[in-house]
Amino acid sequence: QSNLLQDPGLLRNQAFINGEWVAGDHGSRFTVHNPATGDVLAEVASLGSAETRRAIEAAEAALPAWRNLPAKQRSQILRRWFELMMQHQEDLAQLLSLEQGKPLPESRGEIAYGASFIEWFAEEAKRAYGDVIPSPATDRRLVTLKQPIGVVAAITPWNFPNAMITRKVGPALAAGCTVVVKPAAETPLSALAMAVLAERAGVPRGVLNIVTGDRASEIGAELTRHPAVRKLSFTGSTRIGKLLMEQCAGTVKKLGLELGGNAPFIVFDDADLDAAVQGAMASKFRNTGQTCVCANRILVQDGVYDAFAAKLAAAVSQMAVGPAHSGQVQQGPLINAKAVAKVAEHVNDAVSQGARVLTGGAPHALGGNFYQPTVLTEVTEHMLVAHEETFGPLAPLFRFKDEADAIRLANATEFGLAAYFYSRDVGRIWRVAEAIEAGMVGINEGLISTEVAPFGGIKQSGLGREGSKYGLEDFMEIKYLCFGGL
Ligand code: ADP
Repeated sequence: QSNLLQDPGLLRNQAFINGEWVAGDHGSRFTVHNPATGDVLAEVASLGSAETRRAIEAAEAALPAWRNLPAKQRSQILRRWFELMMQHQEDLAQLLSLEQGKPLPESRGEIAYGASFIEWFAEEAKRAYGDVIPSPATDRRLVTLKQPIGVVAAITPWNFPNAMITRKVGPALAAGCTVVVKPAAETPLSALAMAVLAERAGVPRGVLNIVTGDRASEIGAELTRHPAVRKLSFTGSTRIGKLLMEQCAGTVKKLGLELGGNAPFIVFDDADLDAAVQGAMASKFRNTGQTCVCANRILVQDGVYDAFAAKLAAAVSQMAVGPAHSGQVQQGPLINAKAVAKVAEHVNDAVSQGARVLTGGAPHALGGNFYQPTVLTEVTEHMLVAHEETFGPLAPLFRFKDEADAIRLANATEFGLAAYFYSRDVGRIWRVAEAIEAGMVGINEGLISTEVAPFGGIKQSGLGREGSKYGLEDFMEIKYLCFGGL
């Protein structure tokens, strides 16, 4: 695969601990596949608890010097890392598409998006202001400082192999923390390529460590058990997030959790239907439906239901499906066979209970991990897709009568990550925006993620916020200083 890259040095198959590329104690490896073809891309070092412990100790040893650098110097190093990522955008995108499957333009977009967190937090590093609090007593002065929380463990998923890492590592390093990252076993190559560039940018040894492996529970146990790790930042499934939360209780770690979603996408009678169709396409089908903020339930008001369904199905049936590297594709493969089975399960369950297939509804003729982009109508609350995140190219259309009905349906989930709605009535827009139970709301907009705004969920979708000025705070502690006897 290295012949695809202008800089073959970006392709690594060893873990990165304390500034060194390491094979792991027993030389064991796991295989990374191209999800479009099943081809083997690389055999990567598979680490366990002993090597994870060493990575944590390296991060602990690197912490004092990194924390004590002036924020401006950390900022300059992060800035160089951002610039290197953008200089190598094409190579990083090629690697990302190979291991993850998303179409190349989407991968290029992810690299720019991922790099934007490094740029943003390079800037924010210099703005970790404390407060001077007006004192209630004349002989005292009260001040707060913000200090880095310490060693951070980051566990990241395969759907955004670059950006889910930079969104954690950017603010952590900016704050003065050091990090141990465990990337998903499906997509370690993007993480390792970023470590190459971090080193070139001048990130000191031990400040960023990448622990690769397919024994996630063993690595996770060490990261959550070790007392030196002061924060765990996790993006992934709600099930594993809850497990890690339990495991962190023993050492009372701070938690940042970005878990599952079940995003409603509401189309009111007064919506601009063409804009709503465009927004639904972007929100539902980006990354072949494999994002935690993808519309999972499309709720459409009675009066426009049929018209919206017809327009959406027409657009969806035009989408080009294929491997990332073959020309103008808009939909890649799903990550693996299990992901395909889940989409099929949701479609079959809905159809067996009376849903209608407007387009798609079956595995794609390309076979393997490809599934047809699908639109279903007459979907109801009793179907599986109403309660579970499909994480695939399925747009299920639910019908509702009025605003209260829409809000009830939208909030009928234990999740609360993203929500979207389309309306042109300013009163309704405020009412619905305030009533909807979600951490992020797209209003007449289907793509809302940006490094400058807070990303995160409520309810069982998680804890904390990533990106924005709030993202830095999540990696800092507030220390209160009381100066007495004045
Ligand atoms: P998905 O179903 O999207 O793969 P997961 O929550 O299983 O979501 O995975 C997200 C990340 O969590 C990946 O890096 C994965 O390897 C890791 N992971 C999975 N199980 C565990 C575990 N028991 N302990 C720690 N990390 C885990």
